[in-house]
Amino acid sequence: MEFSTAARGEQGAMPVNGLPPYDPNNIFARILRGEIPCRKVYEDAFALAFHDINPQAPVHVLVIPKGPYCSFADFSAAAGAEEIAGFVRAVGKIAKDLGLEAPGYRLLANMGADSGQEVPHFHVHLFGGRPLGRMLGHGAPRADG
Ligand code: 5GP
Repeated sequence: MEFSTAARGEQGAMPVNGLPPYDPNNIFARILRGEIPCRKVYEDAFALAFHDINPQAPVHVLVIPKGPYCSFADFSAAAGAEEIAGFVRAVGKIAKDLGLEAPGYRLLANMGADSGQEVPHFHVHLFGGRPLGRMLGHGAPRADG
């Protein structure tokens, strides 16, 4: 399956939910085009997975869709059913192939400023290899403000 920003407009993807358009020069777009190297874990028609450059756990893999989606909001609204199913199945397969099903793992996707999302190409973080604690990290603000 071919994915390109042109398929969603000359300037990249049109915004969804008032979000900015897709930036075709973001780091993960450049990794997808082979312009920047990565330590690849898995690739199929829908997804590319590679080790995070700044791992936060013994296993810290990023899984990205091949299509030009800024965020989970964009992917969930604009991707086709086949792309969504293919991507979700790839995430599950990668976790299984990494041997993480028995000990367990965590999936995390940041979306927008409050989450601290740095790279504006939708991605899922896959963490594992040690007990991961409960939910949000110590740097997170308290739930009561
Ligand atoms: P975010 O904060 O957007 O959810 O996560 C972006 C992640 O991408 C961060 O964990 C960061 O370490 C990782 N990252 C940023 N630049 C690169 C890169 O060039 N290569 C790889 N493999 N990971 C990167």
